[in-house]
Amino acid sequence: MNKCSYCDSPVLLGGIRDGEKHFCSAHCEKCSPYVDFAKNIPQDLVYKSTLNIFKSPCPKCHSDKHVDVHFSYTIWSAIVVTSWRSNPYICCSACGLKYRLKGIAYSMMFGWWSLPWGILMTPVQIFKNLFDPRLFRKKSAPSRQLTQLVRIHLATKFANENIELEPLNHIEDSVSEPIDESDSYKNKTA
Ligand SMILES: [Zn+2]
Ligand SMILES: [Zn+2]
Repeated sequence: MNKCSYCDSPVLLGGIRDGEKHFCSAHCEKCSPYVDFAKNIPQDLVYKSTLNIFKSPCPKCHSDKHVDVHFSYTIWSAIVVTSWRSNPYICCSACGLKYRLKGIAYSMMFGWWSLPWGILMTPVQIFKNLFDPRLFRKKSAPSRQLTQLVRIHLATKFANENIELEPLNHIEDSVSEPIDESDSYKNKTA
């Protein structure tokens, strides 16, 4: 099964190709240039920043359970316009569950109202909220998805300090280390 090159969600239907890369939605496709650039970010910097987030308290409920990236999947549509996306949240798994339930409620209400994509993609998004395979992964270490998201977040910071990509805003507050290390990264690549 294809997985999104940005958010790593399974692409069940309506995926978008960009060369070798595959995206689950137009929203994730916007990050395509940063997916490439992210491969250049030093692994030790990515690892340190990821671990930092993983060990910090949940920014939503302030519990000290491990924090990771949790996705909710939403869709809205209106006659000829349809928009679906995966929404990353940095939080504990209890908060992640709440976001998925909200994603189901949102999609049930706003998803169906276009042909054909509203009718086709609404069940897909609801299904992904219910059966995200990432729920069953080992929780004692940061997930691959969190690592990837941090890597891309760092890439956007290095590529353009002014850029604002909505999916990354969720982790803006959680990544505290990278700014100090940006100079050393620039030096390595100069
Ligand atoms: Zn995606
Ligand atoms: Zn929480």
